[in-house]
Amino acid sequence: MGSRQVTSWQGKNITVAGLGVSGISAARALAGLGARVTVVDNGDGDAHRVRAAGLAELGIEVRLGLLDGGGRAGEVLPEGTDLVVTSPGWKPDSPLFAAAAAAGVDVVGDVEIAWLLREAAEDLRASRSGEPRREPAPWLAITGTNGKTTTTQMLASILTAAGLRTAAVGNIGTPIIDVVLGEEPYDVLAVELSSYQLHWAPSLRVHSAAVLNLAPDHLDWHGSMEAYAADKGRIYEGNTVACVYNADAADNKATENLVMEADVEEGCRAIGFTLGAPGPSMFGVVDGILVDRAFVENRQKNAQELAEVADVNPPAPHNIANALAAAALARAFGVKASAVRDGLRAFRPDAHRVSHVDEVDGVTYVDDSKATNTHAAEASLAAFDPVVWIAGGLAKGATFDELVQRSAKRLRAAVLIGADRALIAEALARHAPQVPVVDLERTDTGAMLAAVREAARLAEPGDTVLLAPACASMDMFANYNERGDAFADAVRELAADRA
Ligand code: ADP
Repeated sequence: MGSRQVTSWQGKNITVAGLGVSGISAARALAGLGARVTVVDNGDGDAHRVRAAGLAELGIEVRLGLLDGGGRAGEVLPEGTDLVVTSPGWKPDSPLFAAAAAAGVDVVGDVEIAWLLREAAEDLRASRSGEPRREPAPWLAITGTNGKTTTTQMLASILTAAGLRTAAVGNIGTPIIDVVLGEEPYDVLAVELSSYQLHWAPSLRVHSAAVLNLAPDHLDWHGSMEAYAADKGRIYEGNTVACVYNADAADNKATENLVMEADVEEGCRAIGFTLGAPGPSMFGVVDGILVDRAFVENRQKNAQELAEVADVNPPAPHNIANALAAAALARAFGVKASAVRDGLRAFRPDAHRVSHVDEVDGVTYVDDSKATNTHAAEASLAAFDPVVWIAGGLAKGATFDELVQRSAKRLRAAVLIGADRALIAEALARHAPQVPVVDLERTDTGAMLAAVREAARLAEPGDTVLLAPACASMDMFANYNERGDAFADAVRELAADRA
C-alpha cells in the first residue's frame, strides 16, 4: 500500500461481461471516466433490453443474445478489447475468458475495479467539493463459506458505534464501485467478499482481513477445494495490520494455513479467534465474556474485556465466532473496547438467519432458511438441543453423512421436504437410525405447512423446531427468503389453531 496506482481509463476499450447489477455499475462508472465500454451478455429478454436501452443513452454499447456475425454475444470478445471486467457469477472456464486469454487480455471483477478507482475517486471528490483531498478509506475485508454477511454487518455496526463513517459493502448492498465513486466520504469500509470476487481481484491489498471458515461449497465454479481455498486465501495478500483466522477450525488449520501462505506486509500480525480461552494474539471467550488478547499491552499477561456473550444477537456459537472475528478487525483498526460492545448490542441480523419466529405450546420455532449448505446447517443445529429438524431442498452435490453424524445426539426428530430429501433420509438411516424421520414426499409450496405441523407433533415442550435445510430452496421456492416466510406463515397458522 501507499503507492498510488493511477490508471487512466480515457479511451480504453473495456468489455463488461454480464448485464446484471455489478455489470451495469461497472459499465456506467468506467464510461463516466472516459472508457469506451461494451457490455456483452448471452441473454436477450425484455429485462435485458430495457437495461441495454438505459446504457445506450450513456454511449455504452450492449451486445445481447445471438450476434449477426454468428456466435453468442457473451462468448465473443469484441475487437480491440483492452480489459474484460466480469460479473462475479461467470465461471472461469467461460469461452469469453478463453478468448481473452488467447488475445493476451486481462480479466478482472468489480471489486478489482473498485480497488483501482479508490485514488481517482478521492481526486474527483476533492475537486467536486473543493475540500482538501483525503486518503481513500481503508478496507476491512471478510470472506468465508458461511457468516460473511452477518460478520460484515456486525463490523459495520461496531465501526459506527465508534463514531466512524462506514458502510457494509461488497457482496451486499450498493455495488462497491458505486460506493467508492459516490458522494459519501467514508473513514473505513466493511467489505464482504465472495470467493468469486476474490478470484477476479488480483491487486487487492486491504488493511486487515478475516477468513471465517472453509468448507466445500461452489466447487462446481472453482473446480476443486484447493482452488476454492486459494481464492479465499487471496484476501490475506498484502494485508498491512492483521490477518484474522479461525483457530477452532474443526478438522484442520484451514484458515490459519491460508495466513501462513500469504505474502503480507512487514509487521502484519496473525490473529486467531476461538470460542475457548484465547492464547496471546487471539480473541476468545472467558466465563461468558468476549475478550481481546491481541490488541492490548502485555498480551502475555493481559486481556481486554469487550462484551458479554449475551450482547451477541443471536448468541448461537457460530454467531459468537462471527462477533469475535468482527471485533478482531475493528480492534485491528484501533476501535475502543466499549464500541465493540455497543456495536454488537445494536446489531440486528438479517431475516432468515437463526431468527426466532414464535413459541407455541412451549416449543420454540427458529427460521434459519439461509442455512443453504451442510456447514451452515451443522452450525445452526449445534445451537439447539433437543431439536426437531426441518431439512431438504436442492443438495447441490453435497453429502449429509458428516452433518448427521455430528448432529445426531441432539435430534428429537427430522422432517424432510424437497427434491433431494432422500439423500438426507439415507444419511439419517445410516448414522441416526433411532431418530424418527417423517419424509413428506412433497415439493409443492404447501409442504411447509405440513412440515411444521409434523414437527409440532414430534416436538416436546422445551424443544426447538429448526428450519435449517442444508440445501438450496429453488426446487420449491423462488429463494431462501420465500422459504423462510413460508415457514413463519406456517408457524403463525399453527399458533392460531392452538389459540
Ligand atoms: P454468508 O453471507 O456467508 O452466506 P450469512 O451471514 O448470511 O453468511 O449466514 C448464512 C448462514 O450461515 C446462517 O443462516 C447460518 O446458518 C450460517 N452461519 C453463519 N455464520 C456461521 C459460521 N460462522 N459458521 C458456520 N455457519 C454459519
